[in-house]
Amino acid sequence: MAILADEVIADFTAQIRGDIVMPGDPSYDEVRQIWNAMIDRRPGMIVRCAGVADVMQAVSLALQHNLLVAVRGGGHNIAGNAVCDDGLMIDLSQMKSVRVDPGKRRAYVEPGACLGDLDHETQAFGLATPTGINSTTGVAGLTLGGGFGWLSRKFGLTIDNLVSADMVTAEGVLVHASATENPDLFWGLRGGGGNFGIVTLFEFELHQVGPEILAGLIVFPANQATAVLENYRKYVAAIPDEMNIWVVMRKAPPLPFLPEEVHGQNVIVLALFYAGDEQTGQALVEPLRSFGNPYGEHVGVMPFTAWQKAFDPLLTPGARNYWKSHNFTELSDQAVATLVDYAASLPSDQSEIFIGLLGGETSRIAADSTAYAQRDAQFVMNVHIRWEDAQDDQRCIAWAREFFNAAAPYATGGVYINFMTEEEGDRVTAAYGAGYQRLARLKEKYDPGNLFRLNQNIKPATEK
Ligand SMILES: Cc1cc2nc3c(=O)[nH]c(=O)nc-3n(C[C@H](O)[C@H](O)[C@H](O)COP(=O)(O)OP(=O)(O)OC[C@H]3O[C@@H](n4cnc5c(N)ncnc54)[C@H](O)[C@@H]3O)c2cc1C
Repeated sequence: MAILADEVIADFTAQIRGDIVMPGDPSYDEVRQIWNAMIDRRPGMIVRCAGVADVMQAVSLALQHNLLVAVRGGGHNIAGNAVCDDGLMIDLSQMKSVRVDPGKRRAYVEPGACLGDLDHETQAFGLATPTGINSTTGVAGLTLGGGFGWLSRKFGLTIDNLVSADMVTAEGVLVHASATENPDLFWGLRGGGGNFGIVTLFEFELHQVGPEILAGLIVFPANQATAVLENYRKYVAAIPDEMNIWVVMRKAPPLPFLPEEVHGQNVIVLALFYAGDEQTGQALVEPLRSFGNPYGEHVGVMPFTAWQKAFDPLLTPGARNYWKSHNFTELSDQAVATLVDYAASLPSDQSEIFIGLLGGETSRIAADSTAYAQRDAQFVMNVHIRWEDAQDDQRCIAWAREFFNAAAPYATGGVYINFMTEEEGDRVTAAYGAGYQRLARLKEKYDPGNLFRLNQNIKPATEK
């Protein structure tokens, strides 16, 4: 059944610069598709916004007709909240402009831009801001949840580099938020997700990075995983902020630098990064090789933009995905034993256990200075379960949950909201900790009717 009368749709279409896509239109199935193929929802109408005016019109339409609203940035979120059944999908993916002011070291980014778009423009001037590790992830969702990647130990989370934002409120009004203008909203936007409105512009601080950095992979056999992890936790406690090392436990992809017989074997991989002079970086990398007896490695100087795309081939859209995530302040012996134990029985060939290293600048910033409350996390573990066939859904999801429960006693209990799947609603309060009530009051101020509820939802303070 149509969610709006024909004349309302015609009237709305005449008022926007972008397009609408309706069920049955040739592009409908393509436009409603997001990164996680588990999500198969059918919006009643999709608005492909061309600019702020369209976003304001779309919000007003939803408000007037009491429509369920989903907001799509890069479409990468695992929970799939970028798309809804029956309601209005506000698709920002066409708003991709990135303007860099090299003199002021600022980037002005529209909400449909992906990390690769941002890096492409900023690296033309040898500049960058910390984001994530996959170039096709959306800047918008990543930033609103916190955002971290290779540069975060040096420059903080993505939100720590957010200077200001423009946002369309639940009433369809544009507001600006910065340290001096609507500072309460600016606090909430830095980690509070898409709860308060639709952000139409992000202003970021930029730093000198690259354009070449030292990075690469060192691959060890899985039967050396305990030693590698024990060496790893000790080593990363004293590395400089310019360095970052993440761990991946999975089956070896057919990487050209690995002997063919290793392809498909269980391995533990150190993914390393150093943004500084090559000689210092090489000296810092050298000890990693003796964490075990590596199968092989590919380490060298490369463009920052190339390393930012290095994991793209393993993270393409179209597969079925389920994630579970824990934060750790330390990798205890029991945590290491649990990781090693479960990594030996991952439920599909594409699945992996990922450990991202935070600390550095991310932990120096006071926990209450932004809505992101997980500043104590030194390691973020994410289990990426990935498979192709819907018949494997139950088995793969059950495996992820079992592993998550087994690792829980060694974790902080906190979580990064951008790694949460949909059914984890009770973890939202854990993610925000002491700041939750402040966020609920902010939600009450900017979105009392909870129009923006398809997200890791913060309930307005007065709502039970
Ligand atoms: C392959 C892959 C790799 C990843 N790597 C990292 C990483 O290295 N570091 C990291 O920090 N995270 C990483 N993530 C997680 C990522 O931060 C989240 O998935 C994030 O939500 C993606 O943002 P998006 O705009 O692409 O997603 P979308 O699904 O489009 O949006 C996610 C949600 O954000 C909200 N939203 C989006 N745009 C707006 C807007 N303009 N205004 C208001 N609300 C909005 C909506 O609630 C929406 O449901 C990764 C995800 C994937 C799939």
